[in-house]
Order: sequence, then C-alpha cells, then structure tokens
Amino acid sequence: MTIKMEKMKKLEVEKTDILVSAIENVVGKAKRPVQLHEPFFDGNESAYVQDCVKSGWVSYAGAYVDRFEKMLAEFTDARHAVVMVNGTTALFICLKLAGVRHDDEVIVPDMTFVGTVNPVIHCGAVPHFADIDSDTLTLSPSKLETHLKSIAVKKGGKAFNRKTGRRISAVVPMHTFGHPADLDHLKQICDKYRLAMVEDAAQSLGSLYNGRHTGTSGLLSALSFNGNKIVTTGGGGAILTNDSKLAALAKHLTTTAKKPHPYEFFHDMAGYNSRMPNINAALGCAQMEKIESFISRKRFLASRYAKELKGISWIRFLDEPTYARSNYWLNTIILDAENEGFRINLIDGLRNAGFMVRPAWRLMHELPMFGKFPKMDLSNAVSLQKRIISLPSSVSLA
Ligand SMILES: *Cc1c(COP(=O)(O)O)cnc(C)c1O
Repeated sequence: MTIKMEKMKKLEVEKTDILVSAIENVVGKAKRPVQLHEPFFDGNESAYVQDCVKSGWVSYAGAYVDRFEKMLAEFTDARHAVVMVNGTTALFICLKLAGVRHDDEVIVPDMTFVGTVNPVIHCGAVPHFADIDSDTLTLSPSKLETHLKSIAVKKGGKAFNRKTGRRISAVVPMHTFGHPADLDHLKQICDKYRLAMVEDAAQSLGSLYNGRHTGTSGLLSALSFNGNKIVTTGGGGAILTNDSKLAALAKHLTTTAKKPHPYEFFHDMAGYNSRMPNINAALGCAQMEKIESFISRKRFLASRYAKELKGISWIRFLDEPTYARSNYWLNTIILDAENEGFRINLIDGLRNAGFMVRPAWRLMHELPMFGKFPKMDLSNAVSLQKRIISLPSSVSLA
C-alpha cells in the first residue's frame, strides 16, 4: 500500500466508526442486523387476516376492501381512494386516466425508484428525465420551468417538445424518502403548460405539504403498500383522487370492467384485473388504525438521528422542507463532495457493523433500457446520487 492509500484507509475507518457510533446511539439495543425498513404489526393485523381465512372472504370481494378505501380517503382528505395490487399498477392506471397516450412524453425525476418510470413505458409513452432540487431531492420546479421554456411549444392548448415533436402530457413528482416535492410551484408550471400532474406518493403516506396530504394536489396520485413502505398490505397500492368520475373509472377499469349483476358476466371495456384481494386489505385496515403512531414514532426517530449526526461536519442530515411535515420514510444523510469517494466503503463498513444502510437508486437515465430517452441537464441528480446513504428507519426503532 502506498502512504496515500494507507492514509485514506485510516480516514475511512475513522469515518465509519463515527457513523457507527452515531447510529448505535440512536438504535440502541435493537437486534442486529438492523434492517433498513421493516413492517411493524402490533395491532389487529392477525385478527383481521384470520377473520378473512375463517369467513372464506380472502379474494376479490369483501368488506375490508371497502373499509380500507374509506380509511385511506378519510385519513388523506382525498375524496376517493381506489386500492389495487401494487403501487406500480396504481401509477400506470393514474397515467392512463390522466390521458397519457402512446408516444406522449411524461416528465419524471431522474432520481427515483424504477416504479415511477416503468408505468410510463407500459402506457407506450416516453419518459423525459428531469433534475431534482438539492435541498429536497424532489423534482426541481425552477429547473423544470427553465427547461420547458426552452423546449416546449403550445399548440391547440397542448404542449409539444419542439425537439422530438412529441406531445408532453404529464409531470410525475415523487416525494423522495417521504419528503414532499414543492407541489404548488410544480402545479403552477403544469397549469401553465396544460400538463396533468400525477403524484407518485408511494413513499409519502402521512406527509403533509403546506398542511395538505401528499397525493391530493394533482389530478391523481399513486400510493404503495409494499412491505418496505410505512403502511404495508404485503403488496398493494392505491389511487387517490378528488375527481369522482376518474375514481369510478379507476375502479371499473381495474375490476375487469364488469357491469354489476348478480350472475351475468357483461364487460364493456377490455379491463384489467388489478384488484386488491380482501386478505391484503384486512392487513391494511389494521395498519391504518396505527398510522398516527407510526408517523409520530418515525418523526421521533428522525429527530434522534438529526441530533446524533449534527456534529459531523462532512455530512448533511436530510431535514424536511420548510413547507412540509414529513413521514421521514427513510432517514438519509448526504456526504459532502470531498467525501463522495468514501461512500461505497462507508456503506460496506456500516453493513458489516450490522446496519443495513443503502445508497440511492441508480439514476434512471443510466439504466440500459432508459438511456436513449430525452432529458434535461441532470447535474444535481448526478452529483447527489454519489453521496446519499439511507439509514435504518423502521417504526420499531423509535
Ligand atoms: C415503492 C414505490 C413504487 C412502486 O410500488 P410497488 O407497490 O412496489 O409497485 C413506485 N414508486 C416509488 C417512488 C416507490 O418507492
């Protein structure tokens, strides 16, 4: 080893130790390894699932589906909630209902989980990658506005990309790690260009933007209840909307477009079978009974991390934006630029110490199947992606 390499190795060990002891101070005696985000069942989960099994109502009909939808709508103040098999499917249906058609372009953040982008492809549309804001890690309104100014032309009340000739039909903000995007600002831009705003609220159930629940500012939004989200149904998703016609259409389209009748099978569209089974909804009802406590425990955990990490000059703890109350789905630190070279070794060191931390997702424009799609300047996403580490954030840790 050269002297320089030895020095780097020593620094790396020192920095790992600093992070390990800060995390240890927060999670205390939690059983090792400490997972990134585990489901938390301390309510009626078993009772409701057993009720489904005992009664035989495990599948596509049953009272828990209606009850779960009602609980979601009441909790978020959305007029309607329509549950389905997973968040990816929910977002796909949202885009369809928002009028995204074959060969349209849909603006998505470059730094997101692939589940934001796949539904665009499934619509036969083209993702157009947009940069994030460095403070919030969510879609940057100012960069979006500048970009649209340079590439968009309006014709007949619709926006077109003057470089590709394709129509731009929607914008999909994603509430990264639970922190809300700047929705009012994004909505203004969408209105100006007549673009539908569809929120990917998969990570942000319980997060507020200026007092309003995420997922209620756009035309439609998608939630996820995958096992790693704040509320889980095993697998599952939902659409939120204030538009009664769209809600009814979402339900109809995802339940094989069958006209209600006691025994006749008559379908008036080529629908999808994307219903959430009753047994999953049962789990969801039990989880929703506890959501307020989940959020306060997660916010308490975040405050503990913030306090323990405050003294470390070479990282920034990702705080909620000033306009938000976040669910702090994943607590996240960002290394300063000088330390980005340490990221992978820090991640390995922390995982070896029993803390299942992880980097941010690979950027969407770097994935092989998405490389050819249009994009704006992505310098914030490119710089930040190399410096992000998400920390163990389960409800059980608080
Ligand atoms: C989890 C997630 C999804 C997809 O949800 P699934 O229920 O896993 O299909 C979509 N977008 C984002 C940002 C997510 O985190």
